[in-house]
Amino acid sequence: MSKTVKLEKKVQAKGHEIALELREMFRKKGIFVVNLIGSPGAGKTTLLEALAKRLEDRAAVIEGDLATDNDKRRIEKAGLRAYQINTVGACHLDAAMVRDALKEFSLDGISLLFIENVGNLVCPASFEIGEDIKVAIVSVTEGEDKPAKYPKAMKVSSALVITKTDLLPYVNCDVDRIERDVREIVPGMPVFRAAATTGEGVEDFLRWIEEQAAAREA
Ligand code: MG
Ligand code: ZN
Repeated sequence: MSKTVKLEKKVQAKGHEIALELREMFRKKGIFVVNLIGSPGAGKTTLLEALAKRLEDRAAVIEGDLATDNDKRRIEKAGLRAYQINTVGACHLDAAMVRDALKEFSLDGISLLFIENVGNLVCPASFEIGEDIKVAIVSVTEGEDKPAKYPKAMKVSSALVITKTDLLPYVNCDVDRIERDVREIVPGMPVFRAAATTGEGVEDFLRWIEEQAAAREA
């Protein structure tokens, strides 16, 4: 094994250890954690804004971005507590970043934590950050071949949300093919079609998350 590969393995093992510690802490506090992964512009923040209106103060959001706190401010405006991690170049969140964020960000009183990963369908799929589940987000404006092109992101996710379905009349996207393709990779994958502007699918998605949280407690 080369020196670089050895070091990478060491870093990954350390990250895994921190992720396990985070998961244990979240469980003790009774907080269910959802890690949202998707390309830039997939509609992750907009989906969270739509969820925020239905969550009141039982949820909080950690935002991951290379730069700016735009998304944090959007979430706060939508009514949820939010914390911004700027990765300064890193294209995914890792467990240590989440652990450090939680030194400054209180989780008191919440039962749900959403972590919006850096916009990227590649490496966020390979990193555990203490979450209970990952959810993949793809929008109809990205074309229908995202699941086929990013099978790993689908495999590590517990559900897929197809966003911006209100734009279907204006874009060339076979939304049924997205569903078919993802279920070829993950048989039985729950798929939600959501449009934040109309609210379509948002409540179904939230209900499903709450079912997953209840199942974890049981
Ligand atoms: Mg965002
Ligand atoms: Zn990365």
